Amino acid sequence: MQAPWIDTHAHLYLTASYAMFRGHLHQEEVEQFFDYTAMALQRAEQQHDVVIMEQSLFQQARLKTKVRQAVDRAIENRTVQIYLQPLYGTQERRIIGAEVLARIYDEKLGLIRPDFFITAAERSGTITQIGEQVFEKTCLFLNEHPLQELGLKRLNVNLSPIQCRDIHMAERICRIAQHHHIPLRSFCFEITESALSYEARLQQNIDMLMAQGATISLDDFGTGYSNLMRVLKFPFEDVKLDMTFVRAYFDHTNKLLPAIIDGFQSFGVQITAEGVENKQMADTLTKLGCRILQGFYFANPLPLDDFLHYLKTTTPKVSSTID
Ligand code: C2E
Ligand code: CA
Ligand code: CA
Repeated sequence: MQAPWIDTHAHLYLTASYAMFRGHLHQEEVEQFFDYTAMALQRAEQQHDVVIMEQSLFQQARLKTKVRQAVDRAIENRTVQIYLQPLYGTQERRIIGAEVLARIYDEKLGLIRPDFFITAAERSGTITQIGEQVFEKTCLFLNEHPLQELGLKRLNVNLSPIQCRDIHMAERICRIAQHHHIPLRSFCFEITESALSYEARLQQNIDMLMAQGATISLDDFGTGYSNLMRVLKFPFEDVKLDMTFVRAYFDHTNKLLPAIIDGFQSFGVQITAEGVENKQMADTLTKLGCRILQGFYFANPLPLDDFLHYLKTTTPKVSSTID
């Protein structure tokens, strides 16, 4: 609408989109039809134009519906899997932890990547169930393989901004850990900057997790509009630099990396660098003062048995600042 809707307190700028469909739907096609229509409307909104609901869009919608159904099945059947990606400590010069990453295997679709299902699950709200299932499976793993036995300090678990919005999130996480007799100090919870918008609720959740001994890490720093002052208001022990930001330094497209590392360190916040793919990156990032490195140079995210095998058989090669 060209003119705003004027209220005593606000001017509301409204847009309207409508979708028209002519034809017949079978009952089993209804869910897919809603996905299809929602996608067309979203596209129309982005393009400010009429969108014809053509075949390619319909195929995308069909895949989206299938993924969503596979995710729902995995939640219900408790078949969400966890993979572990090693974290290398540059001072200890060995693997000191791992990040827990969700995977969903579907008989028809194969292994579905998180990029595909996390966003969808965040939209539909099922992310909380996925997150809790991932956490519970992590506790079960630690029950069988205590951290001390593995020689690790902690495991990093991702918490979605949607989970952080829920005032009872920390309480439920604590309850799951307690149920499996795993102390919360075994975990570092990774949250992304977008979770910081729910400041009060997030603060309460963080306080509770930290009171029980967990640490908190800020994930994906350097994507979007990172705000240093806002970040420093929260008690992050660690900031994870997003791999695009790390890569930009090595491509020479962004020279900010050393200054950012120094800046955080001067506030006592340690740095993890993601997306470390070769020895040169590992050596340079170590010299620049990163405390933890993660990436394909060390290992891909691994199924649990492969991770245990990796810990027993692999010694990563990285030059220290002294070498
Ligand atoms: P993230 O938290 O930034 O996780 C790191 C991602 O980077 C992982 O992708 C990992 O496979 C990938 N990666 C690690 N090292 C390298 C490297 O050297 N090069 C490249 N190109 N990629 C590397 P993955 O497992 O596909 O996960 C994607 C995203 O999905 C994660 O990004 C995270 O935001 C989300 N995610 C995964 N598991 C969970 C979960 O349990 N809960 C929540 N809320 N989000 C999750
Ligand atoms: Ca993460
Ligand atoms: Ca990340």
